[in-house]
This record gives sequence, C-alpha cells and structure tokens, in this order.
Amino acid sequence: MAYDYDLIAIGGGSGGIALVNRAASYGARCLIIEKDAVMGGTCVNRGCVPKKAMWYSADMAHQIRNAPAYGFDVKSAKFDWTTFVGKRQAYIGNINKFYINLFEKNGVDTAFGNAVLVDKNTVEVNGKQYSAERVALAPGGTPTVPDIAGSELAITSDGFFELDAQPEKVLVLGAGYIAVELAGMLQALGTNVTLGVRTTKFLRGFEDILYENLSDAMQADGVTISTEFTAAKIEKADGKLRVHGEAGQVLEGFDEVIFAIGRTPATGDIGLSKAGVETDARGHIPVDKFQETNVPGVFALGDVTGQAELTPVAIAAGRRMADRIYNGQTDRHLSYENIATVVFSHPPIGTIGLTETEAREQFGDEVKAYETSFNPMYMAFTDHKVKTAMKLVVVGNEERVVGCHMIGLAVDEMLQGFAVAISMGATKKDFDDTVAIHPTSSEELVTMR
Ligand code: NDP
Repeated sequence: MAYDYDLIAIGGGSGGIALVNRAASYGARCLIIEKDAVMGGTCVNRGCVPKKAMWYSADMAHQIRNAPAYGFDVKSAKFDWTTFVGKRQAYIGNINKFYINLFEKNGVDTAFGNAVLVDKNTVEVNGKQYSAERVALAPGGTPTVPDIAGSELAITSDGFFELDAQPEKVLVLGAGYIAVELAGMLQALGTNVTLGVRTTKFLRGFEDILYENLSDAMQADGVTISTEFTAAKIEKADGKLRVHGEAGQVLEGFDEVIFAIGRTPATGDIGLSKAGVETDARGHIPVDKFQETNVPGVFALGDVTGQAELTPVAIAAGRRMADRIYNGQTDRHLSYENIATVVFSHPPIGTIGLTETEAREQFGDEVKAYETSFNPMYMAFTDHKVKTAMKLVVVGNEERVVGCHMIGLAVDEMLQGFAVAISMGATKKDFDDTVAIHPTSSEELVTMR
C-alpha cells in the first residue's frame, strides 16, 4: 500500500524532532506535527532552555554577591526581570526558527495543529488526513495540577515562564527537579521563596548527601522550607494568595503559588484508542526496547513513555529508532541504564547510576561507598560558603563504579566525562590511576580514599 509518508511524528519536541531529522537523513519521507504554534516542545519553550538561561542569571547573582571577596567594588547590581525575559525569549525565538530551517534543509514536512490518530497508519490534523507506514507518538506531557479548591489561582512551570514581572514572594509546592530549580533561581534573583514539601524532605530517591547539602545551601540563601505541607486549598486574601495545608497550617502573602508536583502524559486527545494503543494506569504509553507500542508500527518516545523524563533521553531514543529502522542498525536501541542527569539547583547536582541504597538492594554486602565533602578553593575567599560533596558507589573486589553523586560548584559540567568512564565500566582503580587536574574540585573524584 502506498502511504503519504514513511513516518509521521506526533509532537515537535525533543524526541519527535530528533527522530524525523535522523530518519530524513537516511531518505525517509517524514511529517512532524506540533500542536503549539512553534516547534521545540517543552524543553525549548517552557523547560530546559529558558530554565538554564535563568539559572545563569541566578548564578550571576551569586557571583555578584561574591565579587567583593575577589576585589571588586560592586556598586549596583539590580536585576531587571523584564529586560532579561525579553532577551531569553528572543533566544528561544531563534531556536524555533532554527528548527524550521533544519526541517526545510532535511526535507521534513511540518504541520501545526492538534494531531489525532484515525487508525494505526492515519493521522488527522486541521481536518486533513495523512497516512504513513509508521507513526511515532512523542506528545510529551503537561504539568500536573492537583484537584484542590483554588488550584486555578496557582501557576505551574508553564506559567512561571510566562511571568513578565518578578514576583516578590512565591510559594513553590513540590519536591522534585522543577521545585528545587525554580525555588533556587527565584531566591537568587531576589524573590522571597518558600518551598512547601509534603514529606520531611525533597529530592527523595536521590543520595542523602545531595538533599542534605542542598537543603543547607538553600536555607543559607534565604529559602524557607516548609515540610509536611500538602496544599488543601488556595484562596485570595488582600490581593495575595493564602494556602491552607491539609494539617491546618496556613502559608500566606504570596504573589504566586507554583505547583511543581510532576507531569502528566499528554495522551488524552490524540486518539490512542482509535489505533488500539494501550496506556498504563498513569496514562504513559508502554513500549518495548525498540520504542514500539502494543500496536506494531506505532512507536512512542520521550516523556509520554514515562521512562527517564529527560530531553537527551528522548533525543537518543529517537535517533536510535531512526538508525535501526532506516539505516539497518538492527539491534540499535537506547539503554536506560547509567543515564547522567543534572539538577540545576544552586549549587547544582550531578548524578549517574545507583545510589548506595539501590546498589545494596542489588549487590548486598559487595557494595562500598567513598565520600568526601569540602569547601572548594573558590569559597576560600568568599564570606558565603557553599560546600561541595561527592560520593562514589562501587561494587565487588574490582570496585566497579556503579554510582557517582555530586553537589557543588561546577559539578554540572564535571559529570559528563565521568559518565563516559562509568558507562564503560570504570573501576575505582581506573579513577585512582587518572592523574588529577590541580587545583580543581573534580580532582577530588580521582583522589578519594
Ligand atoms: P518530579 O517527578 O521530579 O517531582 C515531583 C515531586 O513532587 C514528586 O516526586 C513528589 O515528591 C512531589 N509530589 C507529587 N505529588 C505531590 C502533591 N500532590 N503535592 C505535593 N508534592 C507532590 O517532577 P517535576 O515536576 O519536578 O519534574 C518532572 C520531570 O521533568 C522530572 O522527573 C524530570 O525527569 C524532568 N525534569 C528534568 C530536569 C533536569 O534534567 N534538570 C529539570 C526539570 C524537570 P514526594 O513524593 O517526595 O513528595
């Protein structure tokens, strides 16, 4: 049967874009459909990119705070949110244009509108139907909003990136990546931040030293951490927002309340049932190691699959899928093990592999951990000290490194190279045999005892 395309991707975010560009480079005829007015998806438009730009601003605020310790006489350092947001959005606009140019160059067709599956080989958008031998679902997700009274008064990370003026006082509710990233940035830029977490800590599931050091650093920066706080109701009071907790607590006086409690897969309106595609209890689309759903010829990738919801994971899955299907690399697929990730908190966190607890569950007493905590040389001059902490988790007599967890200045840039070594099966001895670079913080990773 003749199809209009070899491949249609639903979702013009990181996964869909990577997939169609790689597939087109092998000669596949591709169409990519995006529901927003621009390409790029969450990462480019409402996630990683604007976040990292703001993280740089926040980092600069900390550098300005430290500048006198390095001999600078800093007279005025007022942050202008509106000016910065204008520059940030201009940068994003250029990325949106870059994608369109790239599609034109690669011969990928584009469509904007809500794509709905008609059957496993047909997609409808703006009243027009297109057929393809294969369909890839990469619609991503949306921020989760709890079903509580007044939840419409709060915003999510989407709304955060639409703020054109700096809020004075903000409550961030949540305990994961987005909560700590937004809380840290806002506080550094001069907003008064409260972080409300529903248990006794945030970043659960990460190594404890990361949580402990970040909690200390955030509080030293002025963030108020309100533990065991689950929002039950939000209301307006004297022009500000007041939030009632389930246990009767009240937090109030906020200009904005931001929910950062996870993301919901965007599978509701793409017609999955028409094609017979199954979802799990949380709405994610389960896939096999080749990203194929329960329906042969229909694939899913990125956040919608619920596996490691990270941009580079979606990109890697998409490119590998194209390599396999359109370039004869028959077993090419993404391994979801040893995925390095950075939390852009202040200071940043870098982590790969197993925590000590996870390693002990798998390997029992064969596990050993090396840990260090120190004031990096940069902080020797500054009044405001932020510690660096590192932990290596190793297994067996050969001490194969199965986990590396760090928090501190520049660990975000430090991790990638160590991730290569760990993915290749490096042992503690390999680390020890690597001559240190001095004076740096990363040398501590190859000199731990
Ligand atoms: P996460 O899943 O990381 O964290 C959300 C946390 O909020 C939960 O783990 C939970 O923690 C808490 N929570 C859940 N429900 C509620 C509730 N009803 N009330 C209060 N707290 C609740 O979600 P995020 O939204 O932070 O981020 C989504 C995903 O995006 C991340 O998993 C990550 O993969 C990705 N991301 C990656 C970034 C990066 O790479 N730097 C940056 C931003 C996002 P607990 O159970 O402990 O209360």
